[in-house]
Amino acid sequence: RPAAADAVAAAPAYPTTHEKIEKVGNTPYFLDNKFVQSTTDKFIDLPDPATNNLVTRVPQMTDEEMKAAVASAEKAFKGWRDMTVLARQQIMFRFVQLIKDNMDRLAASITLEQGKTFADAKGDVLRGLQVAEAACGAPELLKGEVLEVAKDMETRTYREPLGVTAAICPFNFPAMIPLWCIPIATITGNTLILKPSERDPGCAIILAELVQKAGFPPGVVNIIHGAHRTVDFILDEPAIKAISFVGGNKAGEYIFSRGSANGKRVQANLGAKNHAAVLPDANKNHFLNSVVGAAFGAAGQRCMALSTLVMVGETKEWLSEVADRARDLQVNGGFEAGADLGPVISPQSKQRIEHLISTAEKEGATILLDGRGKVPSKYPNGNWVSPTIISNVTTDMTCYKEEIFGPVLVCLNVDTIDEAIDLINKNEYGNGTAIFTRSGATAETFRRNIEAGQIGINVPIPVPLPMFSFTGNKASVAGGGASTFYGKPGINFYTQLKTVTAMWSGADAVAKKASVHMPTLQ
Ligand code: NAD
Repeated sequence: RPAAADAVAAAPAYPTTHEKIEKVGNTPYFLDNKFVQSTTDKFIDLPDPATNNLVTRVPQMTDEEMKAAVASAEKAFKGWRDMTVLARQQIMFRFVQLIKDNMDRLAASITLEQGKTFADAKGDVLRGLQVAEAACGAPELLKGEVLEVAKDMETRTYREPLGVTAAICPFNFPAMIPLWCIPIATITGNTLILKPSERDPGCAIILAELVQKAGFPPGVVNIIHGAHRTVDFILDEPAIKAISFVGGNKAGEYIFSRGSANGKRVQANLGAKNHAAVLPDANKNHFLNSVVGAAFGAAGQRCMALSTLVMVGETKEWLSEVADRARDLQVNGGFEAGADLGPVISPQSKQRIEHLISTAEKEGATILLDGRGKVPSKYPNGNWVSPTIISNVTTDMTCYKEEIFGPVLVCLNVDTIDEAIDLINKNEYGNGTAIFTRSGATAETFRRNIEAGQIGINVPIPVPLPMFSFTGNKASVAGGGASTFYGKPGINFYTQLKTVTAMWSGADAVAKKASVHMPTLQ
């Protein structure tokens, strides 16, 4: 175990400005309810995306430290599993309240490390908080079933925790995704090792402090840091029984296959290319606000961003008004009042997004609104891409085929709703889609025929609330989406069913010959 002297008191405080931090520290990891500095000599620099000034250094933890985290989670498991579900529920109630009390602090860490605006960062925390609130209903959700099969025989099911579980998180929702995992994994009686994104782990570290304050016993939630090597450690560690992954397809498909091959349960939510179809009978003003908000909010770095617009019939005439509203959005440092979108995560990401815009130009599309090269005066060194609209796009273009993950809306024209459905269904991804129409019949045709996991009818970002589940489809999930995050399927993922069949009359049996036939329980 690392020396206790290395433990620091609490998660660091976060400034609410983008000013240069004079004394940059290293992000601690979280073991046995203590914050610990890694002894590694390998760190990943974490710059503020608005300035590229250094915020912190994230350790690539040593094998010894990661093994200690697993040993701690294994040790904590028995006591946590044996605690009554009501006691776990009380801890979750306190965790919920602490998240509410620390909302601004959590959001500030997100704005500083991830770049999204402070208001949007609070939305990130809130959507995670709702999962923790729903997890408080676990006594109901964990109930098994019982059937009196015959007058003296009954069958019952129990939901039992798996043991040590792990979560591997992406950069774009530093609060929400850890909170898809911490509440559901723990309320069901498991312990959890969480690896936040190495690009913005600060929010997870504040959540760790709240875990400690809420009264989770030491080792129930441990937080480790690193990149691919840390992921490989999780994938190959025999004590880890299940892995939750959210991120891109390259990492996700690798994690799903290697984790599954090692005999673990794996749930993996992957990339997206979400389409919005707009019909001429839609409420135009609602559509304009919805598509502009959902395409460019969070600088397009949401897995449910509406990045692709399919304009049916004469709605193509509305595109100039989409561009007018997009042009009005303020791109600025996330702490600045009035900022609508902040920077993208890294200089590499900005370069990749700009490259995809230039491929569209080369391949014959029109750059209707060009967000390249616009820099807010106060932040000359940030990773800025302003809202960009590419029109006259066809499905063979690179900007259509790839997930851009930036503030770029690609627009295609079709003549009918059937063509729109056909186009959307041919796309390899199936995370979410939206339709804008006032016709119930058209919406119903769309709902029935579309191959996407989450559909918005006049709702631009239809992320389900936690009493439902996050139901991506096609290439947006690994393993065919058999196991989805939160809601009843989330409880199912983190529990093993045990079925007991009992017959008490047999206890008094007097027959001398054994029956060798398969019992049929008829
Ligand atoms: P990412 O795949 O680069 O990283 C996610 C995690 O995997 C990180 O913790 C990272 O350390 C690890 N990782 C990255 N590459 C790896 C590799 N080659 N081997 C092993 N581990 C690796 O994703 P990101 O850029 O952080 O997040 C953006 C992506 O996540 C987008 O594609 C977005 O659509 C997706 N996403 C999906 C959902 C969803 O629910 N479907 C939600 C949020 C984000």
